[in-house]
Amino acid sequence: MSALAERTGSINLGQGFPDEDGPIEVLDAAAAALHAGANQYAPLPGVPALRAAIVEHQRARYGLEHDPDTEVQVTFGATEAIAAALLGLCDPGDEVIALDPVYDSYAAGVALAGARLRRVPLRPPAWRFEAAELQAAVSDRTRLVLLNSPHNPTGRVLDRAELEAVAAVCREHDLIAVTDEVYEHLVYEGEHVPLATLPGMAERTLTVSSIGKTFSVTGWKVGWVCGPAELVAAVRGAKQFMTFAGGTPLQHAAAEALAIAEAHGTRLAAELAAKRDRLCTGIERAGFEVLRPAGTYFVNVDVGEDAVAFCHELPERAGVVGIPTSVFSDDPERVRTLVRFAFCKREEVIDEAARRLAGLR
Ligand code: PMP
Repeated sequence: MSALAERTGSINLGQGFPDEDGPIEVLDAAAAALHAGANQYAPLPGVPALRAAIVEHQRARYGLEHDPDTEVQVTFGATEAIAAALLGLCDPGDEVIALDPVYDSYAAGVALAGARLRRVPLRPPAWRFEAAELQAAVSDRTRLVLLNSPHNPTGRVLDRAELEAVAAVCREHDLIAVTDEVYEHLVYEGEHVPLATLPGMAERTLTVSSIGKTFSVTGWKVGWVCGPAELVAAVRGAKQFMTFAGGTPLQHAAAEALAIAEAHGTRLAAELAAKRDRLCTGIERAGFEVLRPAGTYFVNVDVGEDAVAFCHELPERAGVVGIPTSVFSDDPERVRTLVRFAFCKREEVIDEAARRLAGLR
């Protein structure tokens, strides 16, 4: 995507990365840790300062309590946390339930574990799922539900009733939940409710997040998973022989960052809400229907024609890169005319992208 954008001189609204750096105090903390000699292997669970900061973040923000030694594991981004959870918890032939469209690493992680992905459709434009379809996706091979809210690529933030439906299925069938909450601070409408806060869920939920989105440092790849000790141990066991432990200076910086997550996250969410509105308004003026997201970096746009062909031609026709939402789905018909654009970009970039899209009509 980046290569395509560069080759064609296009504005890259395909990949979800901010074009502005994270807060200077967080960058300074990383530089200070590098120079202070924090350059060797971290302990396998993660540096103690970061585990303490994760525990405090979960306690202060959500009222969730964790033992920093046995119930927290630091990972190389949320991606490794999810892969290690799937590898550590699933046997070949097990089934994993996720909402479709699904973030692209899930299908790969499920396949690596020799498991099978069962998808429950989120339907545009509201991106809701049917509780009955979730129920119907459960079989005697179902091991876990892999949930993502705020949700990429739809921008949906699941509400309490939907989360309760997921929790009910997990409790009834004794399933584990793995929840990907990397956009937990990037919510513009409604509220982010961790599944682990629902009745009966703390003891069966692994909560995954990372530093990348909250602090605009997506290249740092410092993530974590929290949950009951036996589930965290399964993740740790898988992670140990994938990567062991590293990114030590960035772990120290992430610990300092998390201490200001609330204030910084509130500020960033306000900025991103304004960027969302700016891109949505610009695209609506360009004559397209917008599915306004409640969270994340992404907006889906109905381009009224086959989105794969549209996105293929878009760099040449308009100098903009977007992603057809169907690449995240195994039911491309449901999302055939939708394109995902990222709005985590500078205002002038957003305005220029909207201007170029308007030239299509
Ligand atoms: N989950 C979702 C839903 C994402 O959108 C992303 C980033 N695009 C990730 C996980 C990956 O997070 P990390 O960079 O921390 O591995």
